[in-house]
Amino acid sequence: MSHVFHRHCHHLPPTIASGNGMYLIDTQGNEYLDACGGAAVSCLGHNHPSVLEAIHRQLDAIPYAHTGFFTSAPSEALAEKLAELAPSSINHAYLVSGGSEAMETALKLARQYWVEVGEPQRQHFIARRQSYHGNTLGALSVGGNAWRRAPFAPLLMDTSLIAPCYAYRDQGPDETAYEYGQRVANELEAMLLEKGPDTVIGFVAEPVVGATAGALTAEAGYFSRIRAICDQYNILLILDEVMCGTGRTGRFFAFEHEGIVPDIVAIAKGLAAGYQPIGATLVTDRLYEAIASGSGFFQHGHTFMAHPTACAAALATLTTLEQEGLVDAAEKQGEALKTALHHQFDSHPFVGNIRGRGLFVALELVADKTSKRPFSSDLALHQTIKYTAMHNGLMCYPMGGTIDGKQGHHILLAPPYIIESTHIAAITDKLALTLEMCLLSQ
Ligand code: PLP
Repeated sequence: MSHVFHRHCHHLPPTIASGNGMYLIDTQGNEYLDACGGAAVSCLGHNHPSVLEAIHRQLDAIPYAHTGFFTSAPSEALAEKLAELAPSSINHAYLVSGGSEAMETALKLARQYWVEVGEPQRQHFIARRQSYHGNTLGALSVGGNAWRRAPFAPLLMDTSLIAPCYAYRDQGPDETAYEYGQRVANELEAMLLEKGPDTVIGFVAEPVVGATAGALTAEAGYFSRIRAICDQYNILLILDEVMCGTGRTGRFFAFEHEGIVPDIVAIAKGLAAGYQPIGATLVTDRLYEAIASGSGFFQHGHTFMAHPTACAAALATLTTLEQEGLVDAAEKQGEALKTALHHQFDSHPFVGNIRGRGLFVALELVADKTSKRPFSSDLALHQTIKYTAMHNGLMCYPMGGTIDGKQGHHILLAPPYIIESTHIAAITDKLALTLEMCLLSQ
């Protein structure tokens, strides 16, 4: 019997033993080709020597010191590096231990900003259906993922949800992709007017939606219209790049593809490539200065924030991404992966849509390609695909969001940026076998 409280009480996963590059190996000697980086985390692959060395060096120097007493060389250097990578208006990084903490920080920072500037009546967020921003109660409140929210209602933050930009399902027959993007972006304006703009803190979105919709990119012009609405009505734009950031889409920040700059952006998973738990909330000077020149204290904090060993791992990850040209590789290999997926699955009866950006791509599964009807099964289909893929020596990330009140299904692929063409070929083969084994019985 396992004494670990596993996420699935009746499923004991295999025990991990080691890893090397694109592969993980369990204690039974089974080898898994990592096509999803765990949950879009392992951007450098497994056991990269430069990150291991940086961690060992920091452990030898000082593994941990509380931020209430000390700052540290790695946290200072990491924040400086992030400020260098970010647009010129973003110069401060609040360093935490993961994605939910980074988003929780973003929400509280946004709320406190309005208190500092004398508008405490702003207590409302607007976010999108089919989104996930973390599992803590605050982050869960702005997420649109119905099945994750349901057991915990009413949630902590007052939030209204609008439509995501989901052309495959929603674009009308008589509108162009651009017109569709503008129409759904304008839902933000409609919701703002309904709520009263001066009651709203900000709008929260993933630039590329991850687990709840499967590498869903917005139509061109959508995010610039969103930014314009936020500016016109003076609300904050909070972007969640926990999954799609840190180079995964072929730019360090996914918002760079959209030609916009957010007021706050959260990053995590790929930041230290999984070698240490870390997240960061990056803020514009306007927000930072409002707090610095106001109360001078952000009412927040965690025991393990800016953890020196995690910061050292993150700094080594960013250096390695740069030295090995891996963000450009993510763009190039992402195109190669998408081409291979189209070749393998365009005519597959149950693959309705192949989409994504960089090494953040997904297949949307449908029971019927003409009507786009999702499979009627619940979350069990995700588990079946995941375990069958593992049986076939492949790690992929099947997930889904709610489509017309039903569970939709997709398989997310987010491999390490060190992926090569032989891995891409093996991924498409193993995925084809997995779909054959799982979907023919549906
Ligand atoms: N935001 C997004 C977009 C995510 O995908 C996730 C995790 O999957 C989170 C936030 C929460 O991150 P964490 O699991 O590190 O708390």
